[in-house]
Amino acid sequence: AKERGKNNFQFYSSNLNGLSVRKMELEIGLRKALENNQFTLHYQPQMSLVTGKLVGLEALIRWQHPEHGFIAPSEFIPLAEETGLIVPIGKWVLWEACNQRKAWESIGLCDVPIAVNVSVRQFEDDHLIEYISTVLDEVGLEATQLDLEITESIMQNFENSTVILNQLKELGVLLSIDDFGTGYSSLSYLKYLPIDKIKIDKSFVDDILYHSNQGVMVKTIIDMGMNLNFTVIAEGIETVEQLSFLKENACKIGQGYLFSKPLPACEMQNYLLNRKSG
Ligand code: C2E
Ligand code: CA
Ligand code: CA
Ligand code: CA
Repeated sequence: AKERGKNNFQFYSSNLNGLSVRKMELEIGLRKALENNQFTLHYQPQMSLVTGKLVGLEALIRWQHPEHGFIAPSEFIPLAEETGLIVPIGKWVLWEACNQRKAWESIGLCDVPIAVNVSVRQFEDDHLIEYISTVLDEVGLEATQLDLEITESIMQNFENSTVILNQLKELGVLLSIDDFGTGYSSLSYLKYLPIDKIKIDKSFVDDILYHSNQGVMVKTIIDMGMNLNFTVIAEGIETVEQLSFLKENACKIGQGYLFSKPLPACEMQNYLLNRKSG
């Protein structure tokens, strides 16, 4: 037993080293990624489940690493948050997303809000409001055309978050709670904040038809959200069965592979062109 304990320890520790080497490499790379233009944004449509029309676009970051190839946000966003690099990266995302949204507006392709993911770490940046308002000014985008997706983790610092959310609302941007249902907060909590939308987390949508509990959760979030005057959007819709369930339960907006995967800007532009002429 002692022998095995030893082996286990060695296995564990070398594994841990492997992990931290990868992490260190990632961190060094992440510091250079911005200046080397290795980030791009993909865009995913948000659809009205009532009319079938496009009602929004979500910008999602991608990292093309010169040696490691494509690295998913689930791998580098947590590290970017840990190191604080999410602040400059998040600024780039805001700028790029607003700029692209405005460019599509200028050629008559888009008049729906662009949703941008904002990390809780960016809420600790004293210049966030000033930065967003400068971007909107310089790009020439209406504040109502920017939709900020934040997670329930902002509740950890309720006082600071309340101040910032109110300032953002003052500016006129839309505010959405992302991954709703996975965090700490309740809907009753949220009604004291100037929130416009809640996004039902994909994990609830995944199991809608197979686990009756999840179905009940989704129904409850939709009902309470509507009663509290939030727009409710379901994320991660992959099947027509999920879509029917959501429609039957009066969910008005959805997003997911069933409609489209997130697309690079040029492909999204074609998508917008096709919808316009089609
Ligand atoms: P999220 O904000 O909850 O975004 C939804 C994720 O689900 C995206 O993954 C999207 O590609 C994926 N998705 C959408 N529809 C479906 C579907 O029908 N099926 C499946 N299996 N997946 C679907 P992605 O792009 O890999 O992003 C993962 C997470 O990384 C995001 O989750 C968000 O938390 C974070 N993230 C992405 N871009 C940014 C960013 O610019 N800033 C920050 N702070 N976080 C970001
Ligand atoms: Ca999101
Ligand atoms: Ca999610
Ligand atoms: Ca998320």
